[in-house]
Amino acid sequence: MEQPLNILWQKGVSSDVYIDIFDIRNNEFPLSAAKILVDGLYKGAKSSGLQKSDLNAKLVREQANAIFAQGKYYDAMEQYNLAMSMAKNCRSEEFGLAIGNRASCFFNLNMIENCLADVQLAKGTNYPKHLMHKLNEREIRCTKLMAKPQFKSASHDIWEPTLSFNEHNEFAGVADCLKIKKNDRFGRHIVTTCDLKIGQTILVERPYAAVPPRENEGRMRCWYCFKECMNFIPCKSCLCVIYCNEECMEMSFHKMECNRPAALSRKETYELIMRMIFKINADFTDVDALMDLVQLLIDGKKPPMNLTQSQKYFCALFQLVHHHKKVSAYGLERMRASAGIVILTTSRYPEFKRKYLSLKHKRFLQHLILHLFHVAEHAIDMFEYFQKDTTAIIANYEYRHFARGMYPFACYINHSCVPNICWFHVDDRLVCKVIRPIKKGQQIFRSYFPGQNSYKQLPILKLELQLRYHFECECMLCTNDDWSPLTDEVDFSDDPLYTIGMKPFCMTVKELRKLSRSQIQQYEKNAIDFLVKYGRFHPVNDTMGMQNTLLIMWNVLAARQ
Ligand SMILES: [Zn+2]
Ligand SMILES: [Zn+2]
Ligand SMILES: [Zn+2]
Repeated sequence: MEQPLNILWQKGVSSDVYIDIFDIRNNEFPLSAAKILVDGLYKGAKSSGLQKSDLNAKLVREQANAIFAQGKYYDAMEQYNLAMSMAKNCRSEEFGLAIGNRASCFFNLNMIENCLADVQLAKGTNYPKHLMHKLNEREIRCTKLMAKPQFKSASHDIWEPTLSFNEHNEFAGVADCLKIKKNDRFGRHIVTTCDLKIGQTILVERPYAAVPPRENEGRMRCWYCFKECMNFIPCKSCLCVIYCNEECMEMSFHKMECNRPAALSRKETYELIMRMIFKINADFTDVDALMDLVQLLIDGKKPPMNLTQSQKYFCALFQLVHHHKKVSAYGLERMRASAGIVILTTSRYPEFKRKYLSLKHKRFLQHLILHLFHVAEHAIDMFEYFQKDTTAIIANYEYRHFARGMYPFACYINHSCVPNICWFHVDDRLVCKVIRPIKKGQQIFRSYFPGQNSYKQLPILKLELQLRYHFECECMLCTNDDWSPLTDEVDFSDDPLYTIGMKPFCMTVKELRKLSRSQIQQYEKNAIDFLVKYGRFHPVNDTMGMQNTLLIMWNVLAARQ
């Protein structure tokens, strides 16, 4: 195949209009083919798809009752959420019953405020009159419990991540000591303007746009902010979408995508780009202003100062990709085919039709969407710690992917297999904490893989970096072919800092949760002292293990479940 053309943001000869990205040689995926596909899916969508039904809601609720009887309250709650979503509408008895039963789950999980909130929510529905005394009784029990002086709010135990520094003046949720720098070797990257210590929180960033996986087995996170275990309310028209409250429902772009063919929505990249497009559309009412701004960015000029915060984030994300970037011919063809599907979907929305009316505007949208496909390669997957068996020790945790988001600042953090920060998610907020001392002026590195890497995985990760992110890692491990001498070099087992520090790793979630705040801080301090004391040996298995213990402690403390 010939070298791919650099088509992105190219204008026609002596023309002010961007070229048609589908009208070039080697076009294996003409737009007409994509059009037949998209039209077909839209036609099919009208007749297919599960409908809301009280009968199905009842069946699911009865299943949930059986799970509840086994004492599996989280699992039951998941099913009650589904039952509530399936109910014909919010006036149906089934809707109220599902919420009323969910209240019992909250009660048994000692989440009394949530229980009370569900009781009140259920009372506002057509909850059956002859069962109303149940709700009243529960309400009284909750109020009594909450009035007791020793009452401890469930949210009290949840760790809220906060920055260890003042906030950056341009980016929300970013420490003011972080700075975007640019050089030939790394392109744009992040450095610190002061020394950083292990345990400090330097990032608590929310995404510009984010998507949950469509087959969201969880049904336990808000579709907008990804919070867990809330007093959820369902989307009025579909079965798999829940929100914390009306506010999250209003903020979400789901109303734009709710009745779209399911087959279109199964691809996360497609979804993510659609949401970025919706967000851009909401942030820029004037297309010509957007076009002018994009031209500035393409020319490498600074965007004007008077942009809104959200518009600035758009600029940051846009600049993630250089328009001269070379993509393989195959990669480009695939992106172009996918871009075609997004373009055709947007053209089905009247407001996009109105906004991108002229040829000049239509072509601009083509390029913008293709550009976003490049940007989306920098998306960050959100993971939760997950363990089916809650009596098993923490070390047996798995990671479960629950969403993917575009983080305007964090996207600029480069990968290293020996990172100096670790990251995890608290709802949709990306939290980064320092895991090795970082000196003023040094670059911040995170691992692109969730959790802390272990030694044995490194060769596999190296391969995945090449395949998925198309880059050769130049960290101290990847440039050193001989890792084996490092692994068993030192024995820390005699040092109490090690033995005590590793203890949380062998606890169960329940045990870790039971620890008091000061006990947890003691373990944290111990682990940090160990990492400082033996930092010069890093990376060896035991220092990596200690980093991992810290990371897991932070994760468990931040999770609701
Ligand atoms: Zn929410
Ligand atoms: Zn919906
Ligand atoms: Zn590496």
